[in-house]
Amino acid sequence: MNILVINCGSSSLKFQLIDAETEKLIAKGICERIGIEGSLIAYTPTGGTKEETVTPMANHTDAIRLVLDALTNEKTGVVKSLSEINAVGHRIVHGGEKFASATVIDDEVLAAIEECNDLAPLHNPANLIGIRACQELMPGVPMVAVFDTAFHQTMPERAYMYGLPYEYYEKYKVRRYGFHGTSHAYVSKRAAEVLGKNYEDLKIIVCHLGNGASISAVKNGKCVDTSMGLTPLEGLIMGTRSGDIDPAIMEFIAKKEDLTLEQVMNVLNKKSGVLGLSNNLSSDFRDIENAYNAGDERAINTMETFAYRVAKYIGSYVAAMNGVDVICFTAGVGENGPLVRRLICDNYLGYLGITLDEEANQKRGFDLAITTPDSKTTVMVIPTNEELAIARETYCLTK
Ligand code: AMP
Repeated sequence: MNILVINCGSSSLKFQLIDAETEKLIAKGICERIGIEGSLIAYTPTGGTKEETVTPMANHTDAIRLVLDALTNEKTGVVKSLSEINAVGHRIVHGGEKFASATVIDDEVLAAIEECNDLAPLHNPANLIGIRACQELMPGVPMVAVFDTAFHQTMPERAYMYGLPYEYYEKYKVRRYGFHGTSHAYVSKRAAEVLGKNYEDLKIIVCHLGNGASISAVKNGKCVDTSMGLTPLEGLIMGTRSGDIDPAIMEFIAKKEDLTLEQVMNVLNKKSGVLGLSNNLSSDFRDIENAYNAGDERAINTMETFAYRVAKYIGSYVAAMNGVDVICFTAGVGENGPLVRRLICDNYLGYLGITLDEEANQKRGFDLAITTPDSKTTVMVIPTNEELAIARETYCLTK
């Protein structure tokens, strides 16, 4: 059974075709600059060569039409006809409180996703456009919505409520939702599997450190806390996002710099985090790491501030779960950044009985423990695979 996984952004669309039975990737690609001049589609069939084609895409329906053409192309395609695509799994950013798990899409589900648009104005409308475009071009093919927020719906009220007037929760559902849920679920389950332990018996902390970064506490197979909040701005320091700040800074900066609230939000989302802290050196950890190794003071302080924040969150989740068995690192930096992992583990996690195995810490590309066998808490690197997780959920609901 072949499943097309679609991750639709406002001007881009990532796709993967996955054989759900063997879990093999059949083809993948991305459409970029949708609706903008210079649109292009990159398509790579597994085992074949990557093709990049610059071609106009006025909207997401055009983009999906090009994806389907590429997948069924006589020469470079991977299926003979669209009938070989059995289901579509859509990544949906915000499911609000309505969705605690993936669900087959019907009119009612579409309306419920639309109701969450307010909570993710940049993402949910684009996700909906992707669903509608697929429905138009692939009528009758079952579609599944897999939500970034769903895994975190098991959080208890004490973890998801803010210290704000209760009426904001009642009227507008202002609360912590959390994001990257598909990744946190996949990585925590995979860690238990790799260790040969029962998922329901473990206390796991997952550090998803990418351009967007979040951390979660998973106790006995259920998420009990996570660092992102109403929106993906809260929590860790990220590539360009500030993470936690004193909310009073917003008014202070607005007055000092003569900025509107919207402009301040833009600063917090796009000009802060590692980019801002490094004094605009870069939002990319590879650049920061290179500068760190060259002795650049701002880069050193940026790395240390980033690592310190992660370590503080780990500490708070150890408290939330009254212990921890496994700490997992995943996503771009978590999987590929031995320096970040070392700064966190060596400087702050000794109290958990952690000894880093520096040789293992230098490896990459597969699931592995990076602590010595006598460490009381195991630290692991688990490459995330959100697309495979979406394909699995879609398969479960449509097979
Ligand atoms: P993601 O959002 O998960 O794709 O992660 C993207 C980030 O991962 C990039 O901005 C880089 O900073 C970081 N990254 C990717 N590869 C490496 C690497 N080899 N070493 C350090 N950081 C990396």
